[in-house]
Amino acid sequence: MTQQATTPAADLSTVADLVAANHILVRQGVLDAFGHVSMRVAPGADTFWLSRNLAPGSVTAADLLEHDLDGRTQDPRKPYLERFIHAEIYRRRPEVMAVVHSHSPAVVPFSLVATPMRPVIHMAGFLGGARTPVFEIADVAGDDTDLLITSSALGAALAETLGESAVALMRGHGSVAVGSSVQEAVYRAVYTEINAHTQASALALGEPRYLTSGEADTARRTIGAQSVRAWDVWREQVRVAAGQG
Ligand SMILES: [Zn+2]
Repeated sequence: MTQQATTPAADLSTVADLVAANHILVRQGVLDAFGHVSMRVAPGADTFWLSRNLAPGSVTAADLLEHDLDGRTQDPRKPYLERFIHAEIYRRRPEVMAVVHSHSPAVVPFSLVATPMRPVIHMAGFLGGARTPVFEIADVAGDDTDLLITSSALGAALAETLGESAVALMRGHGSVAVGSSVQEAVYRAVYTEINAHTQASALALGEPRYLTSGEADTARRTIGAQSVRAWDVWREQVRVAAGQG
């Protein structure tokens, strides 16, 4: 395992993508002052880049810290309390290259009620045909926690709930979305929020017709492969907003 206490310099485009992901997710309403996005350092690596404890809209390349799978970093700056979310998902899912943890508001209600979140739009086929799993922290840590994932044990329990899914909800807290690239994880986090809005709107009108398992799987393969188009648009938007366009 390699660790360094300084700003990543090995792959500047990767670092720039992770910085952009922070800003895109704020602009898309997925992250606010809280939440975070990380990226595995390289395929197969057992370390990942995650910002120091900072509002995601303020993250720059100089703020990224290399963490190991125990959530440790050799940098003296303060890490996020919930870095164990990322560490334990990377440990359990070797193919995952990026993780988004957010409190995006339309998603949280589906962590509170018996009605499961399911895909209702073709852009959210990655949710799959079954119910989106919900992590219940009280089942593993009792009923007096702050609901935060502040240890490896809690992170591992969340990762177990996620299983092989793209998204898991966290009761009364938020969600996680994973991907095989930072572009895919960002796409999934944004469209999880949009799907939640659409599903809630439909439920107010009547019983929605959900995507079948077959539709979800086909849509995931064909539309998910085009997620880079959304990334390009969103990235340009943050570039312009930052006065770089
Ligand atoms: Zn959180």
